[in-house]
Parts: sequence; structure tokens; C-alpha cells
Amino acid sequence: MHKAAIKFVALALLLWLSQADAAVSINSTRIWPAQDYTRLTLESREAIHFNMFEITDPDRLVIDLDDVEIGALKELSGKISNDDPYIKSIRVGQFKPGVVRLVLDLKTQVKPQLFDLKPIAEYGYRLVLDVYPANPVDPLMALLNQLDKPDTALATAPQTVPVPPEPEQPDETVENRLGLTPGLDIGKLDQHLATPPKTLEVRARTLIIALDAGHGGEDPGAHGKNGSLEKDVTLAIARKVKALMDDTPNMRGVLIRDGDYFIPLGMRVVKAHQVNADLFVSIHADAFIKPDARGSSVFALSEHGATSTAARWLAKNENEADLIGGVNIAVQDPYLARTLLDLSQTATINDSMKLAKHVLTELGGINDLHRGRVEQAGFAVLKSPDIPSILVETAFISNPGEERRLNDEDYQMKLANAILGGIKRYFAQNPALSKQKIAATKF
Ligand SMILES: [Zn+2]
Repeated sequence: MHKAAIKFVALALLLWLSQADAAVSINSTRIWPAQDYTRLTLESREAIHFNMFEITDPDRLVIDLDDVEIGALKELSGKISNDDPYIKSIRVGQFKPGVVRLVLDLKTQVKPQLFDLKPIAEYGYRLVLDVYPANPVDPLMALLNQLDKPDTALATAPQTVPVPPEPEQPDETVENRLGLTPGLDIGKLDQHLATPPKTLEVRARTLIIALDAGHGGEDPGAHGKNGSLEKDVTLAIARKVKALMDDTPNMRGVLIRDGDYFIPLGMRVVKAHQVNADLFVSIHADAFIKPDARGSSVFALSEHGATSTAARWLAKNENEADLIGGVNIAVQDPYLARTLLDLSQTATINDSMKLAKHVLTELGGINDLHRGRVEQAGFAVLKSPDIPSILVETAFISNPGEERRLNDEDYQMKLANAILGGIKRYFAQNPALSKQKIAATKF
């Protein structure tokens, strides 16, 4: 009996020790505040069991984590910036044995999503909290408000589109000046595309160019040997292109991503639709398998396989951004499903190819071209059914010489000017018709 009791105590002790050892340590905590949403990531070597609930008055989120070490979590409170749009502060404490509690004090009502991700690339397990606003800003309204401010860029420019005069003057609304469909609902996109034009617009309208800085947040993109990250370089260039476009009469650049946070690839396409973009330009500076690879390239979507093994490799690499950036697969976005309609993209790809050639020609004036022609592959971010879309590889960040130039403000400006130059050439040869006219030509 005595021996058995000792054995029992020893076993109990072992069990207690193994449970104590089982506490999962958090390797890294990251916070990505942005207007779209703020993301909090906890990274660990093992999966974390979690539970979340909301409390109102004042608004708070409570997250209980089972069997985790509290150590690294204590640094979270110091990581909340004052300008975080949604999180005011975070408190961390040992709620009870085996449960660490995070309490997030909120600035406004939110729609939180908490989900976990399996290890990928350099990441271990990730527990991700995405804090979305309960009442998101309508991007089209934001753009309209911005455009409604007095601005010389909006002054009616000489008519460039040879169309017959319109029988009746449209109302003086901002939507009309832009040639936008008032109150466009992405959910009715198919209807919108199928609607035949009633009248052609004579008024020069502002062209909206969606500028998509590749990667962001949890997805750094490619790394340069000297430490530069593709996501930073692409954003710097995209901002410069936007500034140049906003100074161009009848043209506005809209940044799909304007900060260091991740946007899923399909969502980038949706955001371009939400602002009724005329063109979509995704900006990158990737690495390549060979470190001596250099030069600029421009890609369009392919419906029937890639034009080279390098293009196929790059598209596959780019399409993995969602895995690295982290997408909550439990939430199906209805906007996304409606936007990526199964329409023939042939007409749009033809336009994308024309645009790509003009941009490639302009880039050839400031950098070597990786290949002398536009390439095609199945890039997910280029899958707009009705917006001509290109992906610009400005240069290879994996090439030390190009990495240095990609960080140079003057060189970034040259790249931005080349992109704008290509777009201007495209519109000179393919005048922008009204949105309804463009849509109608495809049916
Ligand atoms: Zn990239």
C-alpha cells in the first residue's frame, strides 16, 4: 500500500510538472493598426486555445487564452499607438490558474474576428484578432467627398472622346462629373455590367486609377539582402504615383492600401470596384530565385496558363500572399463572390495587355527590362472581370544594386513617372469612354 501511495504521488507530481511545462510561450506579438481594420497577432510554436466575448458600456473585447505564458503578452499594452482607430488600450492579467485574460478597451463599436492560422513560411502558429469597425467607411463616398473639395484638377478639360452631343444636360452632381453610377452597389455588379448605355457622356470625367501597393502587414513580401522589405518599397512608390496622378487634370489615384497592414488579394479587387476604378495597377519589387536577376517587368492576367516558367513561378508566389498575410477562411465575403463573377475576361485582358505594353515601354526608359515583352500568368489580384489590370515588377529587391535604387527617393519618383507615363499613353490611344459604354462593349 505504501509503495502504491508513493507511486500515486510521483505520478501526480509528474502530471502536474508536465502540465506546468505545457504552457505555450508566445514568441511574438504584433499590432497592425489601420483605418480598414486593426490586427493583433500572437505567434507561438503550438496552437493556442482561446475564447472571446464582448462587453458594452464601455465597449470592450475580452479574450481568454488557455495555458499560455503571460510573459511576452505583457508587452502588448505598450504597443498600442494613440492613433489606433479602434483599440484604446490593452490590459493583460492572469485571470485564474491556466487562463490569461486580455481586455481590449475600444474607441468605438467594432466587429471582431478571432481565428487561428497554421504555420506557413517563417511563421509558427498565429492567433489573429481582426478588429473591424461596426460601421465601415464607404470608400466611394470617401473619394467623392475628397473630390467634392474645390480642386483645379476637376476643372472640365477639353473633350477628348469623339462622341455625339448629349441630348440633355446631366445634373451637376459629383457622380455625374465623374461618370460614376450613383450609389453603385457591388452586390449588383453583374446588373451594373449588363446595363446598356442610355446616353454617352460628353463631359470629360475624372479617371480613377486604383494603385495597389503589394503585400503589407503580416506579409512583408520579398526581403532585400540589406534588409529592405518589398511591402515598404511598394507603398513608397504607390504614394508617389498617387501624388503625380492627383496633380494630373482629370485623374485621381486611389491607394488600395495606405499603411502597413494586410489586405487579402480578392479584397484588393473589390476595393478597386468600390471606387469604380478605370484601371488597376499592382506595384511590386519581388525577389527571384537567381540573385543576379534584374530589370523591370509588367504582367497581365492569363486565362490559359503562364507565358513562361518564371511568370508561373512568380504568380504562384504572389498568390500565396493570402496564406502569409492571413485570411479568415471561415468568413466568406459576399462582395468578393459577386465581384469575381465568372465572366469572360478576354476583352479586359486585351486592354490590360495594351496598358502593360505602354507601361513596359516607359519603364524601359529608366531601367533594363527583365524581358522585352509583357508576360502573362494567373495572378489572383488581376482577376477583375471589367477593370484592365496589370502587375508591375518595378525591379528585383533580391538584386543588391536594384535594392539600393528601390530605396532611393529620386529613383522611386522615376518609376512613378514611368507608370504614369504608360497610363497616359494608354488613354491617348484608348480614350476612356463612359463606364456604361465600356461595359456594353463586352456584351
Ligand atoms: Zn510581390
